[in-house]
Amino acid sequence: MSLISQKLQAVHTSIQAAAGAVSRRPDSVALLAVSKTFGADAVMQAIAAGQRAFGENYLQEAIDKMAAVKVALTGTQYSGVLLEWHFIGPIQSNKTKPIAEHFDWVHTVDREKIAQRLSAQRPPHLPPLNVCLQVNISGEASKSGLAPSAVLDAARAIIGLPQLTLRGLMTIPEPTEDEQKQRAAFRQTRELLQQLQSELPLHAAQLDTLSMGMSADMAAAIAEGATIVRVGSAIFGHRAKPESQIE
Ligand SMILES: *Cc1c(COP(=O)(O)O)cnc(C)c1O
Repeated sequence: MSLISQKLQAVHTSIQAAAGAVSRRPDSVALLAVSKTFGADAVMQAIAAGQRAFGENYLQEAIDKMAAVKVALTGTQYSGVLLEWHFIGPIQSNKTKPIAEHFDWVHTVDREKIAQRLSAQRPPHLPPLNVCLQVNISGEASKSGLAPSAVLDAARAIIGLPQLTLRGLMTIPEPTEDEQKQRAAFRQTRELLQQLQSELPLHAAQLDTLSMGMSADMAAAIAEGATIVRVGSAIFGHRAKPESQIE
């Protein structure tokens, strides 16, 4: 068994424990494996261990990796598997077209203009792109994401876009080791999603996603209702390259 496969198993065990602690079904929490800075070989090991959904932050790196994984899968027992690629990095408006063409999900929509471009550029033969609005729940000046007070208007503006499906909210709270503080930020995000569901009742069923929790705070996020946890280093190990040197 590969190291990645062992680590994946450990992450699944942690998800089960965190879900069980609040009487949630473990299968109500999806695991997004964040493979940024790791190569196609690492993704192949995760696929062999059963993982199908991968998160990427850097567009060119992601597109190259998708192609390399496709080649590596050819002729193997996994050649028919359906992978899901999620874009979780900051979006520049001149990069929306390749994002709309290559990904199944985008977690980091933080303005209407980006949503409009993604919808207009989503190829018509593909299903609508699943998107989340990114919320700056801790109000950090340096973080991207909508202010909580701006989320409802943004949701109203993008929910009718034909080639997008608004699925919910994503957040990256201010890092803290205090579990109560972690939970408070995730709880606020959950309450914001509940507010969207009640203000947009015709769309409540599709607003089913809370993308929150990473390697260091995934238990707190699950306790507060995360439906997708985005986990990188706990699966693939420490990221060697400083992220600022990529792209
Ligand atoms: C890198 C990254 C993750 C994964 O972080 P880890 O601490 O490695 O689990 C999750 N979400 C986003 C948006 C990221 O950029």
